[in-house]
Amino acid sequence: MTSTVAAVLYQPGDLRIEPIEVPEPGPGEVRIRVGVCGVCGSDATEFGRDLVLAEPPVALGHEFAGTVDAVGDGVEGLAVGATVVCGAGISCGECKPCRAGRTNLCRKYKTLGFAFNGGLAGYVIAPADIVLDVSGSGLSMDTLGLAQPMAIAVHAVRRSGLGAGQDAVIVGVGGIGAFITVAAVATGARVLVVDLAEDRLELARALGATETLVAGTMPLKDKLEEIGFDVDVFFEVSGSRPGLQSVLDASWPGSTIVPVGIQRGEPELPLGTWTLREMKVVGTVAHVFRTDFPDAIRLLQSRPDWTDIAPTAYPLDRLVPDALQPLLDGSAQQIKALIDPWISEPRAAVHAR
Ligand SMILES: [Zn+2]
Ligand SMILES: [Zn+2]
Repeated sequence: MTSTVAAVLYQPGDLRIEPIEVPEPGPGEVRIRVGVCGVCGSDATEFGRDLVLAEPPVALGHEFAGTVDAVGDGVEGLAVGATVVCGAGISCGECKPCRAGRTNLCRKYKTLGFAFNGGLAGYVIAPADIVLDVSGSGLSMDTLGLAQPMAIAVHAVRRSGLGAGQDAVIVGVGGIGAFITVAAVATGARVLVVDLAEDRLELARALGATETLVAGTMPLKDKLEEIGFDVDVFFEVSGSRPGLQSVLDASWPGSTIVPVGIQRGEPELPLGTWTLREMKVVGTVAHVFRTDFPDAIRLLQSRPDWTDIAPTAYPLDRLVPDALQPLLDGSAQQIKALIDPWISEPRAAVHAR
């Protein structure tokens, strides 16, 4: 048994940085010494609005990388000292979707950092079968902290069927949109990125976007005509009504729409139009560890530097003011805030290979 300082959510608005006990890993589990943990909109929602996934009190954090610190009985292929990334979802391996390889749809799906203590802590326990040894990846710990959100993006792009020679639109280049841009560009598709903020579009171009459009300056449909895009897949990542509406207006028969951003409220759905255009609307949630994580690592290896995505690592006690609150009030300047549980002052993130 070891104790560690963690960011424990008690209820929305009540998050405490306090010591928790971390047990020895049980059979099939490993204990990870957390190197870095990313923070995302899901964490902000649980902290700032309402409990969706979280079962408090629970240490948050589902986007972490670290070093194997102890190994439970029956664990093979993971040794103490290995550098690892960890999937967020724990699946049963026995239900119908699990048997079909769709572990993210497991009937008993539980998420580390919401249902079980997660990686916004010095140490975390994880099932070995969602831990990937990346000791040979050549990536820094801070870059590896981006593996889980990248896996989310890999999954969304895989679900869409997007491929080389096709055209895609991505609306919204925030926390997930930036990673989806990387994953979409990597398929060999041409990619138009739409966002309200010019600096986000500049980032999108740095990530390989072929074209960009400032939202609201001209109808998406007109822009597509101007640049000669014949779009196969629309990713609506903003979760906003105008974002979804622009996509629906610009879609044509046979379009695939992936609503990645979660629409709140009750939009009036133009179901008749969907029918007549043979529209394909594809949901996407979480990631499939076995396939999406290795691809995510390859994508992280494809760029020499990720400072533009994640420039800073903060100590645990800066989690609320520098990571969660900016996500909640929409003032976040960086795509991804990283937390390093072992520092007491913010530091520049290290992405050098
Ligand atoms: Zn996340
Ligand atoms: Zn299952």
